[in-house]
Formats: sequence, structure tokens, C-alpha cells
Amino acid sequence: MDLKFFNTLSGTVEKLEPLHDREVRMYHCGPTVYDFAHIGNFRAFTVNDILRRTVEYAGYNVKQVMNITDIDDKIIARSTEQGIPALDLTREYTNFLLADLKSLNILTPHYLPRATEHVGGMTVMIEKLLREGYAYPASDGIYFEVAKSKDYGALARLDLDAETASRVEGAADKKSPRDFALWKFETPDDHGVAYDASFGRGRPGWHIECSEMSRETLGETLDIHTGAVDLIFPHHTNEIAQSEAANGKPFVQMWVHTEFLMIDGQKMSKSLGNYTTLRTVVERGFSPIAFRYWVLGAHYRAKANFTWEGLEGAQTALVRLADYLGAEIGTVNADYQKRFADLVTNDLDTPRALALAWEVAKDASLSSADKTATLLDFDQVLGLGLALRAEVIIPDNIKELVRSREEARQTKNWAESDRIRDEINAQGWDVLDTDKGTEVQKKK
Ligand code: AMP
Ligand code: ZN
Repeated sequence: MDLKFFNTLSGTVEKLEPLHDREVRMYHCGPTVYDFAHIGNFRAFTVNDILRRTVEYAGYNVKQVMNITDIDDKIIARSTEQGIPALDLTREYTNFLLADLKSLNILTPHYLPRATEHVGGMTVMIEKLLREGYAYPASDGIYFEVAKSKDYGALARLDLDAETASRVEGAADKKSPRDFALWKFETPDDHGVAYDASFGRGRPGWHIECSEMSRETLGETLDIHTGAVDLIFPHHTNEIAQSEAANGKPFVQMWVHTEFLMIDGQKMSKSLGNYTTLRTVVERGFSPIAFRYWVLGAHYRAKANFTWEGLEGAQTALVRLADYLGAEIGTVNADYQKRFADLVTNDLDTPRALALAWEVAKDASLSSADKTATLLDFDQVLGLGLALRAEVIIPDNIKELVRSREEARQTKNWAESDRIRDEINAQGWDVLDTDKGTEVQKKK
């Protein structure tokens, strides 16, 4: 089955040709862990997960990496303000993040490299760039010389002649305003967050972190690299320049970028203060999976405007969809399965894939068992946890035991009824005697 995605680099939907046979290697820019991630970040992370699940659904093996940015100005500022060591702060927020990702049914990436654990490799890459003339020292750090880079700015379609480069920060003595920092020399503001290097003690710039962590975990050329659209420039543009200069190979085959989650017409962001965390979503009575359903409802390349009414609608739809699953699992309907696969493998058309799930749910010509099997098949990509949500998949032998226990109770054979209950428990189910009769639930 072919996989097609919109490649930011070419500006077209392209077929993915994995470099390593049936294995697809993908890298996602992860969060900076000094606070809770907001739901805009989680939109991007959910799309990464849907991408992974789609590639797996198409029969490939995936090697998936998301980095954890745990060296950053904002981390230093926050840890100083709160009087906690930076490593303790970032460890705490990494744990919160991992719990939030789990609650969204996001599969854990195979590697979650932390910048602090890869500084050695970053310094080696910078040494190479210095040796080969791509980098030079200035008063406050080591800079990458953009003029030495081939095709700089192709990803972002920068017009280097027309652009004023005033947006680019850094030392007054750098050679060109566009040159960016690979390494920042230590200052008192860094509060001891600094590492030794042959070219001077300091810390890595943000871009080199991803260039090195992706190389160490996945190799010099990646099949897919993702992030939200704000990373196209400067972050991804600079990653390409550094990696291709250092490795002498193309850095990434396919660049996949997720559009923003918006609120009141603006990008949701920490700096604008207009953000909502997943914790707030849960406090307001929503399941994190309702948020996932909401994310699926918009194409990843379209801006999605977040409203609480929209989330309410997603939650209602999710519960109703799960209601269509029955206790028996039949056969996956091949025709629907093909239509579903065509939608998701064609640039992740999740809005249409969800609509197709509803078509299956409402198709009166399908038996309940086949409907259930087909929806569970789709759920490998959608990740809505439909089986769990419906709490319906009760195996036949458990149903049989429940029936025998009912009989024992009717004849007041309490010893036998207790024995059967123990047996049901031993198989991982809880027995609840309610006024509507006996129910079983999978043990939590
Ligand atoms: P950060 O922690 O700010 O480095 O962001 C982590 C990831 O979330 C990056 O890939 C960002 O591009 C992405 N991101 C940040 N804000 C939004 C938003 N409003 N919508 C979608 N993705 C976002
Ligand atoms: Zn990155």
C-alpha cells in the first residue's frame, strides 16, 4: 500500500519511498519541558501519532523519535525563579507530559532523547562544522555561516535577497545577520547550565539539538520529520543547513507540518497567554479522547479553531460512535477497509475517515459483529479506544459463567455462586450485582 503525504519541501503530495525497506524512520520536534504542554502542542503530537499509526496500518515498521528539549532559556529562567534545579524541573514536566500523552492514546515513541543527554554528540558536530569552515566563533558563541550553505531557506521558500534579516538575533560581530548560533558561551544568566567543549564552555543552540539527536537515533537521512508550521523557519531550515553541512547527505526525505490550533482567531501559545492545558479540559468534564476526536475532525493541514462547544460535540459523537460496537467481533468488511486505508494513506484524511466510521456504524446491511470488527480495525489508526470505551467485548466463556452463576443464585446455592464469582474474577473480570441484574466489567 502506498503512503502519500504533503511534503513541505516540494510543496506537493508525494509518495513516501522509505530508505530502509519496510522500515520508516520518523522524527518529531518535541516539547520544551518547563511547564504543562497546551492543547495546541497536543494537536501536533496527536497528528504525529496518527501518522505513525497510519504507516503501521499500511504494513511498515516504524522507528519513531520525539525529542525532549530540556536545555532552553525559558527553562533556566523558570528554574531560577522557582529555586529548583533545571534538571528537577524538566524531569517533573516530562513526567506530566508522558502521562498526558498516554491519556490521549498516543503510542510512546521508541526513543525520547533528552538534549542534556546528547550534548557530547552536539559538540562533535559543531567541531566538524568549525573544521570544515561552515562555522566560526563570535563574541558570544559559535555561529553557522548561512552563506556557506547550499539552498539555504528552500524549505521555507525564503527570498534571501529581498528579506531584511532584522528578525535574526545574536552577536553584533557575527558575519551576517542570518547566521545563527550553534553554541552559546556561558554567561552569569545561565546559572551554571553549561557544558565543557573544546571551543569554549557553554550550551547548545536549539537547532543543533535536533540535528544531533535525530542523527544519533535514526541516522543521517530521515524518512519523515515533523513539527507544527511555526518550526519551518527558522528551526527546520537551520536543522537542514547544519545536518547537510556536517553529514554531506540529504537530511530528510519528507517534511510534514501540522497547522495551528487557533483560539479566537489567534494561534494558541504560551506567549500570548491564550492557552488551555489538557488538565483544564479534564477538569471541565471532558475525556482527553474527546479532544483526540476533535483533532481528527480537522485535516492536519488546516487551521483548527478550538471552542468548548466544538469539544462538547466531539465528546457526544465519540460516546455515540462507541455505542455502535457490539459484544461480538465478526469479520472486517473488506470494502470499507479499503476505503478507509485509501483515505488515511492519502495525506491523513482523518475528517473523511471519521465520516466513513459513521457510515459503517449506520450501515443497516452490516451485522453488529462485522460492524464492530470494522470499527475496531479503523480504530488502530483513529486510536479512540473504542473497544475500551464501549466496555462490550465480553468473551463467551465469561458470559457462560455469568449465566451459571445466575442459576446458582436463583436456587440459593450461595457456595456455588461464590465459587463462580471467584472464577470470573480470576479471569480478570469484576462481577457487579445491580438492580438491573448481574453485570461484568473488565478489571481496571
Ligand atoms: P514547544 O513546546 O513550544 O517547543 O512546542 C512543541 C510543539 O508544539 C512544536 O512542534 C510546536 O510547533 C507545536 N505547537 C505550538 N503551538 C501550537 C499550536 N497552537 N498549534 C499546533 N501546534 C503547536
Ligand atoms: Zn526540533
